[in-house]
Amino acid sequence: HTFPELGISPELLEAVKSLGFEQPSPIQAQAIPVALTGRDVVGQSQTGSGKTMAFGIPVVQGVDGSLRQVQALILCPTRELAMQVCAEIHKLASFKEGVRATPVYGGASYDRQIRALQSGSQIVVGTPGRILDFMERGLIKFDALKALVFDEADEMLDMGFSDDIDRLMAAVPKERQTIFFSATFEPRIRRLVENYTRNAATITI
Ligand code: AMP
Repeated sequence: HTFPELGISPELLEAVKSLGFEQPSPIQAQAIPVALTGRDVVGQSQTGSGKTMAFGIPVVQGVDGSLRQVQALILCPTRELAMQVCAEIHKLASFKEGVRATPVYGGASYDRQIRALQSGSQIVVGTPGRILDFMERGLIKFDALKALVFDEADEMLDMGFSDDIDRLMAAVPKERQTIFFSATFEPRIRRLVENYTRNAATITI
């Protein structure tokens, strides 16, 4: 497979080229074409598999840079992963006019994150607790949300985010695409998949 065969837009092909990636990783080759159709995706993935770009490319391609509304939410288990994922998303977004991504995680001051959100981001990347907190304070609105990503879902449960995830999911639009990645699929992970994805394509590598 090559990146152009996956249905990626010219802007994002430029981004991929600038990153120096020559070939899609197996998870990218499987997840990107399906995710670009808007279908839900459930993937088993490890760190180092290229999973970030597997969801990052479809997410960035799918948002509209002319609308200043949050259209995609990427949930991560830790502040470190949220920062890392947001940095990857920035690399893609810089090739798409008007598209911005903001990290929102716990353990850091509210002010900067609030100001970044107020400048108008289409993509929010962060940890469930702080995102729920912002949503309940009316600082983030998800009315226009089209895509939601669970990155390292098993780690999110290990970090104790189960209740926060359930509260958050009760408040986001039901009509959306959900992309779900986890390294393991024990019953409590399968419960998340059952509750929060619909007719998903399953990817294992
Ligand atoms: P991840 O599994 O998303 O944490 O990605 C692991 C590393 O692989 C990151 O440093 C990515 O920048 C890099 N990477 C992602 N996709 C590709 C690719 N198609 N070719 C080469 N490197 C990649």
